[in-house]
Amino acid sequence: MITAGLDVGSRTTKLVTYNGGLLHTALAPTGVRPLERCGELLNGVTYEKLTVTGYGRHLVAEALKANIVSEISAYAAGASHLFPDAGTVIDIGGQDSKVIALNGYGGVQKFEMNDRCAAGTGKFLEVMANTLEVPVSGLGELALSASKIIRINSLCTVFAESEVVSLIARGEEVSAIALALHRAVATRVAAMARRVGIKERVVFAGGVAQNRCLQKLLGEELGVALTVPENPQLVGALGAALLAEKIT
Ligand code: ADP
Repeated sequence: MITAGLDVGSRTTKLVTYNGGLLHTALAPTGVRPLERCGELLNGVTYEKLTVTGYGRHLVAEALKANIVSEISAYAAGASHLFPDAGTVIDIGGQDSKVIALNGYGGVQKFEMNDRCAAGTGKFLEVMANTLEVPVSGLGELALSASKIIRINSLCTVFAESEVVSLIARGEEVSAIALALHRAVATRVAAMARRVGIKERVVFAGGVAQNRCLQKLLGEELGVALTVPENPQLVGALGAALLAEKIT
């Protein structure tokens, strides 16, 4: 059976179709009309069952005649499928971050989620990339080129941005500021991961997992080597496609 998984995220909508192997993947900004965006992504795509997940799942499910699964279940299923020995999933998306302890059977043992505060999410890095006048896709590499360690003390995104402006005015290197921002995110997410408990193998997923600096710092903070899937942003959509077959 060909199943489809659609992850309607706060920033990006992701589509995966599956029939024992990946058939098709697509991704586009969610924008202000999520249902239209889903329609565009599904246009011409063949599937028998569709499951939706992500931030906007409730908005689109009925119109798309789709089942719904939580992002937690979708990420757990997707990561466990890719890495059957996975013990933990860390997902950092556009507007939230989650740590999921897996039960060893593709399901969830426990989890913690931060969706109340932009710090520790992709949004924090997007705001800071904008302030530092670099694309968010280049922020990690910029940080990795830093030759000096400085600190950002504010946890709040708004105050941290003011701190960045002060650091720029003080003449600090932009790369060092970028590194300090990544350290702030890594510290915050690692604290959440420790609360949930780290079981190896630790899979790092979500759009922010593409950031090499965060891969490095988060791994160092937790004292484990993180496994980053080839397409970390698609793990939730893959999980939804896998779960579509199981939901009647
Ligand atoms: P959501 O599901 O909430 O829409 P995603 O998992 O799609 O979130 O992740 C979106 C986030 O990923 C953006 O906020 C951005 O910070 C980050 N991101 C996207 N592309 C890249 C990239 N090439 N390199 C680093 N970070 C990226």
